[in-house]
Amino acid sequence: QEPLAVNDPEIFQIIKNEKNRQRHGLELIASENFASKAVLEAMGSCLNDKYSEGYPGLRYYGGTENIDALERLCQKRALDVYRLNKDEWGVNVQPYSGSPANFAVFTGIVGPGGRIMGLDLPDGGHLTHGFFTPQKKISATSVFFESMPYKANQTTGLIDYDKLEENAMLFRPKLIIAGMSCYSRHMDYKRMRAIADKCGALLHADMAHISGLVAADVIPGPFEHCHIVTTTTHKTLRGARSGMIFYRIGEGYNLEKPIKEALFPGLQGGPHNHAIAGVAVALGQAQREEFVEYQKQVILNAKRLAKTLQDFGYEIVTGGTDIHLILVNLRNKNLDGNRAEKVLEAVHIACNKNTCPGDKSALRPSGLRFGSPALTTRGLMEEDFDVVAEYIHESIQLTQFICDKLEGGAKAPLKEFKNALYTDPEVQQRV
Ligand code: PLP
Repeated sequence: QEPLAVNDPEIFQIIKNEKNRQRHGLELIASENFASKAVLEAMGSCLNDKYSEGYPGLRYYGGTENIDALERLCQKRALDVYRLNKDEWGVNVQPYSGSPANFAVFTGIVGPGGRIMGLDLPDGGHLTHGFFTPQKKISATSVFFESMPYKANQTTGLIDYDKLEENAMLFRPKLIIAGMSCYSRHMDYKRMRAIADKCGALLHADMAHISGLVAADVIPGPFEHCHIVTTTTHKTLRGARSGMIFYRIGEGYNLEKPIKEALFPGLQGGPHNHAIAGVAVALGQAQREEFVEYQKQVILNAKRLAKTLQDFGYEIVTGGTDIHLILVNLRNKNLDGNRAEKVLEAVHIACNKNTCPGDKSALRPSGLRFGSPALTTRGLMEEDFDVVAEYIHESIQLTQFICDKLEGGAKAPLKEFKNALYTDPEVQQRV
């Protein structure tokens, strides 16, 4: 029973390095957060060691009385946090993460080769919503299901619901996915439900990014209009790395059995009980007043970051944000997100390069996605985000400075750009 530092100093050192990186840098990745000590304690507990294939009361392993209690409590908290009536909604807390949660819904509800429509990846959707390119079916969702993406208006960046309706009536999907990884506005669930009803589809919200905001009731949630809701639990919700599937039950709904069976035994084996405990702890925290205050601040901070960057002359896709993330489009600066991301990383600011509506290549995306959840957890307020915006601005100016030094400018090979970033003395001085 030696501590990690003694038993495996190599791994101990890597974890220590990562902790330092997280502490000393600015974490602006929209899908990340810092889970509480209590969540991490649950994750690092003896629950890791227990197998419990099956569901509470019906397991394929013995010794599961504590696991049954854990899973039932997690389910109860999940329904409570989202203010759901247990006669109308059920929840499955076993998905290992967001991707298997979605895949289980697709296999259980749509069936092999069935049709789905999700927001296209370059317009803010997630890989698992059916992404493919003309050259390749990228996501397993597009390999095993027939996917027709819907898109955002390429000028405004806003979802084109009229076109979605037109295409849905032609394509007749079984499932429409209302969800995103990089779309900064509320989704119009009401309109999407009307479209789903009209074309005979079910409406599935993937609220992975916004599940903390929905839990705190600071933005409109998807439950009123959707049949199925999936989520990750480690983004704005600030829990363990895991997933959940909510589905309607009762009169006229036949969703519970196919989803349950698609997840286990269809896709997964034994549940990750340590993760379920970490989610349950986070769901407990999400019922406290300070969680609501935190989520309000997350939105205020993201809005302030958008405004300050706009004041510096940057274009924010859709003109701003309603939630925790923003997408900056560098196209009008003649720069790309990839190079800017490298400079930000060099100065210890972590964010994502991201495609913007209208981008021709995912390899040369023109955007940068920034999110406020992690730094808000660290206690940063709006004024602090003004300083963060200044650092971002300086980093983008440095990106421009490096491009200007290279013969090919912004089009010079990335290798040359990185070489200048890490070796050019003038650049080093500014870093
Ligand atoms: N759905 C959405 C909307 C996401 O943004 C993500 C992850 O970023 C996922 C699903 C997949 O979650 P995971 O990476 O946990 O599998």
